[in-house]
Amino acid sequence: MTGAVLVVGAGVVGLSIALEAQSRGLSVRVLDRTGPAAGASAGNAGAFAFADILPLASPRIMRQAPKWLLDPLGPLSIPLAYAPRIVPWMWRFWRASRPSQVAASTAAQTALMNHAQGTLDGFLLRAGASNMLRREGQLQVYEGLAQFEASLDGWRAREAGGVEFRHLAGDDLAQMQPGLSPRFTHATFTPGWATIDDPKVYVQTLADKFVALGGEIIIADVEALTATGLRTSTGDFAGRVVIAAGAYSHHLTRTAGVRIPLETERGYNTTLPHGGFDLRQHITFPAHGFVVSKLAGKLRVGGAVELGGLNAPPNYKRADAMLRKAADFLPGLDTTGGTQWMGFRPSLPDSLPAIGALPGRPDVICAFGHGHLGLTQSTATAAIVADLLTGKAPGIDMTPFAPARFMRQS
Ligand SMILES: Cc1cc2nc3c(=O)[nH]c(=O)nc-3n(C[C@H](O)[C@H](O)[C@H](O)COP(=O)(O)OP(=O)(O)OC[C@H]3O[C@@H](n4cnc5c(N)ncnc54)[C@H](O)[C@@H]3O)c2cc1C
Repeated sequence: MTGAVLVVGAGVVGLSIALEAQSRGLSVRVLDRTGPAAGASAGNAGAFAFADILPLASPRIMRQAPKWLLDPLGPLSIPLAYAPRIVPWMWRFWRASRPSQVAASTAAQTALMNHAQGTLDGFLLRAGASNMLRREGQLQVYEGLAQFEASLDGWRAREAGGVEFRHLAGDDLAQMQPGLSPRFTHATFTPGWATIDDPKVYVQTLADKFVALGGEIIIADVEALTATGLRTSTGDFAGRVVIAAGAYSHHLTRTAGVRIPLETERGYNTTLPHGGFDLRQHITFPAHGFVVSKLAGKLRVGGAVELGGLNAPPNYKRADAMLRKAADFLPGLDTTGGTQWMGFRPSLPDSLPAIGALPGRPDVICAFGHGHLGLTQSTATAAIVADLLTGKAPGIDMTPFAPARFMRQS
């Protein structure tokens, strides 16, 4: 089938794909029910988190989860009303956390991350967004030797995946991040981590560039896949389809009879207008499940995982709880005047995105399920999807990302 490529979703994934496909000479239309940066891509922490090659589904998380679940405002929560609905996804998550699966997911994630790092600079240049990126690295901080030592297995696995890092303590840590509470005695610095000035402005920049180069963004609710393209609230469109609809993507695959176990990990944050704290780089508090990141003139405090589905109203007590902890951990942080936000991470149970043809539909390409890493992996996903659309072999093995992998499981 020839004609336009129809990309569903104007988040960071959809618009990166649109720009990349356009640069390969394809005619592209983006459809979104609201417009650019309406979903998770607007309010995330802004990190190109290249060090995060370890899947969330892991024995470590399975050990930590019961303790986290005991705290109703802790890093992980499952609202009671949603618990029965999340069970099948949790079962697949548990199966993905077996050591052999973790090794396979880590290898796949490493390949995708390397591809993302390799494509980032060229993509930003073409998008006119190079000046929005800061390469300041990331600091993961630990409370005491025991917590630090418990992290070492993970760092060894990252080392094997080629991630650069160095461990710090004492004066070195104080110099790296003045003002950090002394309860944090150890840390690990990952220099390869980068941060975008403002994720929402970044996505709007991609949208503006796409339109300036002749692309079209259509405001329409996409209702279903059809034999020739899409049915939407404003009529039918013909063409090859890319599904990049974030946490809603499985609603569309279902209209072609394909069930993909996509769930949402709801996350929360507070953006502080200035914060009054001299944050030198992105800081991750792994034992508490949140981060503090530096955006253009602002600080953003957020994270947490709430397995609560797409319909329940936000519970901003989670954002309040993280802000209180941040004030403890970064004494002097000015927590006044913040804006709260909740977003839907689109998450598959094995922590890998679905990128590739929809089973039975070679004319429909999936590009969703990036979980905590949609911004980070957006340029690699764009390059891969553009390769698939132009009949080129992507530079990495796509088997672990195949949407059909869920069909093989019972
Ligand atoms: C608190 C938090 C912090 C995060 N921090 C980071 C980070 O630092 N780094 C990182 O890499 N990732 C981070 N993430 C994850 C990241 O935000 C997501 O993985 C990413 O934004 C997903 O992008 P997307 O384009 O797939 O989806 P979205 O941005 O959600 O876009 C999907 C779009 O599809 C549209 N849509 C959906 N259904 C339809 C339909 N039927 N018809 C028409 N339009 C439709 C929506 O309107 C939306 O605009 C974070 C997420 C959260 C919640």
